[in-house]
Formats: sequence, structure tokens, C-alpha cells
Amino acid sequence: KEAASLHVFDKLESEVRSYCRNFQTVFDKARNAKVWDVKGNEYIDFFAGAGALNYGHNNPAIRHKLIDYMLEDGVTHSLDMATRAKETFLMRFDRSILKPRGLNYKVMFPGPTGTNSVESALKISRKVTGRKNIICFTNAFHGMSLGSLAATGNAFKRKGAGVDLPNTTFMPYDGYLGERIDTADILAKMLSDPGSGVDLPAAVILETVQGEGGLNVASFAWLRRVQALCRKHDILLIVDDVQMGCGRTGTFFSFEGTGIQPDIVCLSKSIGGYGLPLALTLIKPEYDQWLPGEHNGTFRGNNLGFVAAAEALSYWEKDTFQSELAGKIRSIRAALKEMLRAHPEVDAHIKGRGMIQGISFGQPELAARLSAAAFKNGVIMETSGPNDEVAKLMPPLTIEASVLEQGLAIIKKSFEEIVQ
Ligand code: PMP
Repeated sequence: KEAASLHVFDKLESEVRSYCRNFQTVFDKARNAKVWDVKGNEYIDFFAGAGALNYGHNNPAIRHKLIDYMLEDGVTHSLDMATRAKETFLMRFDRSILKPRGLNYKVMFPGPTGTNSVESALKISRKVTGRKNIICFTNAFHGMSLGSLAATGNAFKRKGAGVDLPNTTFMPYDGYLGERIDTADILAKMLSDPGSGVDLPAAVILETVQGEGGLNVASFAWLRRVQALCRKHDILLIVDDVQMGCGRTGTFFSFEGTGIQPDIVCLSKSIGGYGLPLALTLIKPEYDQWLPGEHNGTFRGNNLGFVAAAEALSYWEKDTFQSELAGKIRSIRAALKEMLRAHPEVDAHIKGRGMIQGISFGQPELAARLSAAAFKNGVIMETSGPNDEVAKLMPPLTIEASVLEQGLAIIKKSFEEIVQ
């Protein structure tokens, strides 16, 4: 494969760019789970915009709605003014997502990105409780603005702030100290012991599966214990579903079926349906204590985002969608198991939940080598974890079964190449 030149980017774009260093080509076209570069090379996308493309690239039904809306001169930008597009989205979100799950949240539009959602969740928790501290977890990733970065574990990203990141306390996530230690015990002790030095927090913020932090999966029992501790100490529970929401774990919200019901939920990435920037903060009505205009932003009213988001929700109105997902999840797990079983000499194990699965390598560089080999062979997949030790598979949820098999075969071939 001949890669396209990145000369223009090297010359004109900031050094801060990252993914393009691993995927060295110029991408041009994309349809569902396939992407083509300017040289005509085809790739199967197991990255899916870091979770922003759960419904695939250029989803035809969503595209139709967007084109129709534009041809009808629908309002595109409106700050947070009331529009037909927003009304349609709000009604559909309530009817198709919240009501069937027995959930009652006010919907806040905090700005275009996941970071904005987290930032608003932290702010409203502090306002409601009058407390400053936030409890967050090792290897968490919540965003790049100072408030959300303060709740993010990654040392490299934190250093980039260049200032202190105060008012957060890190606790060990489920499994952080090995299988035998229930880290909820530590949280319980630290919250109840007046000598622990931990200020009573406004909120606990967590991901049910840590996407950037290495596909660490919290057990449902741990999540329930954390929620019980929040209730006991009158602390708000925030679930950051920016990456795991919108079906990534197999259900619309990642906390469905776990037995917890957060006070605040952060959603972004795939809620925009078509890769369009949109974020939601879901707030239990009693905690929606914002004053009008207290948290604003120019791009709270991305109407194309509302149009795409409303249409994307139709997947959750179909009975078959979740059962089809279950089949795809089984295929991915089976392929990974087979790959590792064939090479017991390789120190690696499978991690993940639902449509986000990965291989964690004892030798971290193997994950990068797998990603590089897969790219050479025609699959885009990223790495995650504190040492980038996990090769991460997260295709669009809408990936065709045959393309999924094709992609898994390429990953298997690439795995064979790197462990030879
Ligand atoms: N929270 C989580 C769990 C995330 O995975 C991310 C992005 N990777 C964010 C927040 C930040 O979202 P954004 O990049 O849209 O600001």
C-alpha cells in the first residue's frame, strides 16, 4: 500500500496532532464501517471516531434527514433558542430513551463536546451541594478543560494543564488493586473516617468502563456499592457515558442493568448521530438548580446535531437492534478468544464489555505493533491504557456482519504477524 503524503499537515498543523501519527495517510471517503484514503486504499474502521460513530460513517437514513432539513431552510445555528429541530429531538429522546427506561432527567445542552458535559456536571454538583471536592478514579478520562482534566488520571495530559488541578480526590477504580481487593471498601473507609483527609465531595464521577484508561470494566456489584455510598453520604453520582453511552456496551446507557441510576449523566460522541458535535447533561429534576444563563456557550444549539441525533434514536425503537448487537459482540469475543488460545505463550488477555473489546498485553509495545500491523493490513484500531498496552476494538454498532468478520480476520492475521 502506498500512503498519501502528510506534507501539508507536517508543515501547517500544530505538533499537538496525535492520531494521524499512527494512521499515516490522508482519508477521503467513508461509508458505515469502511474508510478510503486518497490513494484508494480501503480500511475497516475499528476506531469509530473514538466512539463518535456508533451509527457508522455517512449513515444513509441520518444523511437523508440532514439533507431534507437543509433543503427546507431549517435553522442551523440558534444558540439555545427554541427550534423545531430541538423540539423534535427532545420529544423523541424522552419518548424513545428516557420513558421506556423509567428515567426522569432534565436535558441540558452544555456545549458541543464531552468535555463540556463533564464540566457542567461538576459545576452543578458543586452548586447543588455547596462542596468543592469531587471523587474520581484512577485511570479515569473525563476531558481536557481544567475542571474535567482535574478528574482525569493521565499524568501526561494533566501536566499539559500547566497549573494546579485542585478539588479532586482520586480513589482506586474497581480492579485497580487486583482481584482480591474490593476498592469500594477503601472508598467506604475514606468517606466515613474523619481522619482520612478526604473532604466530603459534591460528587463521585465514574465511567462504568474506562475507555481511554485501558478498558477497565467495573463490576455491577462495585457500581452498586459506590452508589450506595453516595446515597449514604448525600453525594451526587455522575456517570460519564460520553464514550460508553449510545449503545457501546450493548444497551443505550452503559448503566442499564447494573442496578444503578446516576443523578447526572454525561453524553456526547455518538449522541450526535453523524459525527456531529453535540453533548447532553442529564440532570435529575431536583438537582437542575441552574439559573437561566448561568452556564452558556455559543454552540449549545447545533440544530444539524439535533436532526441527526433524533434520527439516530430510531435504532433504539427497533426491537432487533439490540439482539443484532448481541450477536456481533459474541463474534468479537469468540475471535479474540481463538486468537489468544492459539498463542498461549503470549502474555495477553481480553478486556471489555459489549461492543468495546480489547487485548491487553503484558508487553505494552505489542499493542502498538498490533495496531500498526492492522493498519498496514487494512484495519484502523487504536490503543488505550496508562501504558498504551491495550489494543482496542470498537467498530460502529451498525457494522455489517460480513465486514465485521473481514475486520476480525485482518486483526487475527496481524496478531499472527506480531507474535511470530
Ligand atoms: N469523557 C469520556 C469518558 C471520554 O472518553 C471523552 C473523550 N474521549 C471525554 C469525556 C471528552 O469528550 P470530548 O473529547 O468530546 O471533549
